[in-house]
Order: sequence, then structure tokens, then C-alpha cells
Amino acid sequence: MAAVQDTIREKVFISPGRYIQGAHAIQRAGHHIGRLGQSALIIADDFVWQMAGQALTKSLEASKVSFEYARFGGEASSHEIDRLVALGEQALVVVGFGGGKTLDTAKGVADRLGTPCAILPTTASTDAPTSALSVIYTDEGVFDSYRFYDHNPDLVLVDTHLIAQAPPRFLASGIADALATWVEARAVIRSGAANMAGGLPTLLGQTIGEKCEQVLFEQALLAWEANRAGVVTPALEAVVEANTLLSGLGFESGGLAAAHAIHNGFTALHGAIHELTHGEKVAYGTLTQLVLDQTPQVELERYLTLYIALGLPVTLEALKLAQATDNDLMRVAETALQEGESSHNLAYHLAPTDIVGAIRAVDAHAKAFMARQHHH
Ligand SMILES: [Zn+2]
Repeated sequence: MAAVQDTIREKVFISPGRYIQGAHAIQRAGHHIGRLGQSALIIADDFVWQMAGQALTKSLEASKVSFEYARFGGEASSHEIDRLVALGEQALVVVGFGGGKTLDTAKGVADRLGTPCAILPTTASTDAPTSALSVIYTDEGVFDSYRFYDHNPDLVLVDTHLIAQAPPRFLASGIADALATWVEARAVIRSGAANMAGGLPTLLGQTIGEKCEQVLFEQALLAWEANRAGVVTPALEAVVEANTLLSGLGFESGGLAAAHAIHNGFTALHGAIHELTHGEKVAYGTLTQLVLDQTPQVELERYLTLYIALGLPVTLEALKLAQATDNDLMRVAETALQEGESSHNLAYHLAPTDIVGAIRAVDAHAKAFMARQHHH
């Protein structure tokens, strides 16, 4: 994710080896993981392991794949990756089973061990599963860096039945992460900057980003309602695919811009903002980029309408930053603008005060929009 470089001439598109999605797909996980290696290190947190560990181990046993369970400590940090690498020296395949941070950690462990990597998301809350990179945080949960790998996961297997049982807040977070995809990729295409694979976006990368957004505006609310009812519907299947596959390929081979950089800036603050999910902070970052991009009112309100319907944060109060000072927001802006950040992929130059102003403007626009809605 270099800044705009005159030297980039080649287009690059990368993707995982195999993507499988369907209700109860986990029952076939052993078959697919066994093709990668007959001895698995499974990384999952206690909650996921108790909820769904048995379905996975039953499937592995049926396919005669031996396994060892390694409990995930909760943060995708360098320390955590080191610790798990030491536990996995015998493993022939690393399996990440859980949410975005578990999966990012598993990718780091597989890379260090030099084994294939299987990714089994239990929520559709981020677009982490398919990419050849991890977002590394400090042990305290502050954004640290992106870690890039030689190749994408060999297998991504998504059980939509499991996802339908997860809290709808996770799906909404994934929708927010996926709505950022096209907003950021089109900015990268406009500026001629590099995607996450270090090349120019292909037509396929662009098409995936556009399709991702289209699916979400058409199906996201229906999928969220199905998730609230705990059922798998065609709309839920479509949105799980948009959140996971389309958003994952779309951001990696399309590129990131200001929305994720501003998200990373928010993680530098202390306090209750850390209670928000990745996608929730990305939602606010996306709105901030839309303001910076001088998005027409009708278009901005199209996004606001969907975020509000899904219970995503569109005000500073909802972001638990009602008391944020200009100094706090300057810290967010300066973090978002640090060297190597994707905010430099925009076609225009940004100063920290531009970002602070846009963050405050999102709050003002959202409040005015909600007041007008209320009035009607
Ligand atoms: Zn994201």
C-alpha cells in the first residue's frame, strides 16, 4: 500500500485458493482441511470453541485429520503470534476458527510455520478471511501495522448456519466494513495508487468492489433481519458473500484509502471507543471519507440511511466520543496520516485539520439528517 508512485505499471489481482460457503459447511471442513495437511493446529477462542468446536472436531475425526487446539488470547499481536508458533511446530496445517482477530493471528502463525492456512470465520464481521495480510495490533489493542504474506489462505470455509446464530451486530459490522470497500477502491482507481498487493487494480478488482456495494444496498437490511431471526435466507447468503469474499477481494485487489486510515486513527484513542467493533469504527471512517470526497448530499444520505437502519454509529456520541476534544481528534488525524497509511492513496492532499473538520461534519450531517427524518 505504497503512496502514489509513478513506477507502478502492472495490474495485480490475488485471491485465496478455494472459497466455500453454505449452511452447515463445517460438516465438510475435515475433508477440505485434510487436503492441505493431516495434522492441524486449530486457533480459536474459548467462546467459539465451546459453541462450535465439537462440530469441527467431529468433521476432522471423520476425515482422519489429527488436531491440537490452541486457545487464542484475544489480540492479533506479534506476541500472540510468537506464542502460538511455539505451540504449532508439529502442525502441517494451521486453522483459524473465529472472528477477524483470530483469523489474522492464524494467518501470521501459518506464515511463520510455512504451512498451508485454512480460515473458518464464525461471523461475517470483517473482510479479514480471504486476504494475504494481517492487521497487527499492540497487546493493548492499538493499531500497529499491516503484515503482508507471500500468499492468501489456501482455504476459506464459511458456514452460514453458524453465522445466522451469531449476534446481528457482527453482521452489521461486516456490512460496514464491506461498504467501505468500493468507497476506498474507487478512490485508489482515481488516484492511480497501488492496491494492497502492490499493483494497479484490475477490471476484476473494480467489478468486485462495485458488485459488493450493489449487493449491500439491495440486500443488507433483509440479511440483517434474517440474522435477527436466526435463519439462513438467500439474502443472508448474498450478504455473507459480500462481507467476506467480495469485500475481501475488493479491498485487497482494489485498495484502501481514508476510511480505514481513519479507523486506525480511532484505535489510538483511549477509552470506550475500544468497545466498538472494527466495522463500527470503519462505518464512521467511511462517512468521513465521503465528506472529504465532497459526496453529493443525496448520495451521502443513502449511506446514512443504511447505517442508521443497521444500528451503526453515525454520530460522535454513538462512537463514544461525545466528549472528544480537538486534541483527541488531532491525534486520530495524525495517526491516520502517518507514513505508509492508506490515506495517502487519495487523489488529493490531506492536512490533519481537514480530517478533524470532516469527522465533526459527519456528526453534524447525521444529526441534521435524523432530525429531518423525524420531522417527516
Ligand atoms: Zn476492514
